[in-house]
Amino acid sequence: MTLNRRDFLKISGAGAAAALSGCATQGGAASKAHVVVVGAGFGGTTCAKYLRMWGPNIEVTLIEPNDKFVSCPLSNWVLAGMKSMDYITHGYDKLSKHGIKIVKDYVTGIDPAKKTVTTKGGASISYDRLVLSPGVEVLTGSVKGFQEAEAAGKVVHAWKAGPQTAHLRKQLEEMPDGGVFVMSVPTAPYRCPPGPYERACLVASYFKKAKPKSKIILLDGNPDVASKKGLFMDAWNTLYPGLIEYRPNNAPAGVDHNRMVVSTEFDDVKADVMNVVPKQRAGEVCGLAGVRNDSTGTWCTVNLATFESTTVPNVHILGDSVLSNLPKSGHMATNHAKVCAAAIVELLAGRQPDPIPVVANTCYSATSDTTAGYVANVFRFEAGKGYVTQPDGGATGKGDEINLTYAQSWAENIWAEMLT
Ligand SMILES: Cc1cc2nc3c(=O)[nH]c(=O)nc-3n(C[C@H](O)[C@H](O)[C@H](O)COP(=O)(O)OP(=O)(O)OC[C@H]3O[C@@H](n4cnc5c(N)ncnc54)[C@H](O)[C@@H]3O)c2cc1C
Repeated sequence: MTLNRRDFLKISGAGAAAALSGCATQGGAASKAHVVVVGAGFGGTTCAKYLRMWGPNIEVTLIEPNDKFVSCPLSNWVLAGMKSMDYITHGYDKLSKHGIKIVKDYVTGIDPAKKTVTTKGGASISYDRLVLSPGVEVLTGSVKGFQEAEAAGKVVHAWKAGPQTAHLRKQLEEMPDGGVFVMSVPTAPYRCPPGPYERACLVASYFKKAKPKSKIILLDGNPDVASKKGLFMDAWNTLYPGLIEYRPNNAPAGVDHNRMVVSTEFDDVKADVMNVVPKQRAGEVCGLAGVRNDSTGTWCTVNLATFESTTVPNVHILGDSVLSNLPKSGHMATNHAKVCAAAIVELLAGRQPDPIPVVANTCYSATSDTTAGYVANVFRFEAGKGYVTQPDGGATGKGDEINLTYAQSWAENIWAEMLT
């Protein structure tokens, strides 16, 4: 994105130089630099792949517990019956062609002083640099009764795509016509700001056709629609009048699955299907590394030109776990990953990374099973300021058919970018 072909070749050369000059030596013999990447989602897969492409002599180990990647983008389409779980589920097999060592395991310990990670399976793996892209930890304990209701199969957040997505789809299919779907939006910052509003649109689109007497109550912890307000309000007013009841400043405080009630500070809201999305923080592994270092101990602050932690050296953090003015999106996580991979190649070669990286974000949201809108922005890093939004961005105020086609192409392209 910031690199032309000449720059790319220069950096590839830098990677080769790194392998000769910038790496650890053991017993006098030069050894290859080793980067361990934790989490094979948007950030982790992309970083591992570009580290190997731009630094072919760097050894890269990618640690991930799941056999397959399940995409959050387009998971709302599954809820509306537009796509299947199979469509959003993809294997990791094609990634190994880049020479990435993929370890199926879960990281349970990090020792930044010894530069080692330990895993649930009992492995101890040393690193020269560590990249963490674990996504978010959903704080299910923050909503009273959520964990009991979740264990009973009565509530899901479905904010990590996978079995909970399939479960929620089944609940919506089984809900009687005339039922009430109660869903919530966590207080910002959270993963994918437009995601809950897109979900409300797509469930409404499904109800309109399959269960027209049904209703959605959208409880928002924020004072107003937190993202793409024009796009979503237009859809709610024109496509779904009377179907979605929007209640701002209504964070769920509790869930009672015996009474099927979501309670806020104002009242108890009776539901047939409950989809509460609790607040979130940087992935658990960030806590293990001691890099959840913002003022509330929730998110990670990084040097935004290298994505290295501002407190723990040699540990880089990507994606949703990072606190910045950039959106918490999959597209953005892949851009973090490329800036970070390029910076690590330079750092291992003993050189200064690019001081003014550029990143971009494109985010489509479907407003019905035939329409979508987008927001797109470019951001340039400026020392002392962070990422500054460039003037060439844009957004749609109304969903249309061509953008639904583009949304699907975007997803298929980014899955290919991450996983092949
Ligand atoms: C409903 C919904 C819709 C969305 N739509 C869009 C969209 O249209 N466009 C868009 O750009 N973004 C969208 N997003 C946001 C996007 O999914 C996230 O921003 C993105 O997944 C963040 O990437 P990440 O690398 O930080 O985390 P993830 O992609 O979640 O990857 C994290 C990985 O780390 C692994 N992991 C965690 N802990 C450990 C550990 N201890 N050891 C080993 N592995 C570990 C996990 O298993 C997981 O595979 C959506 C999100 C939701 C919920």
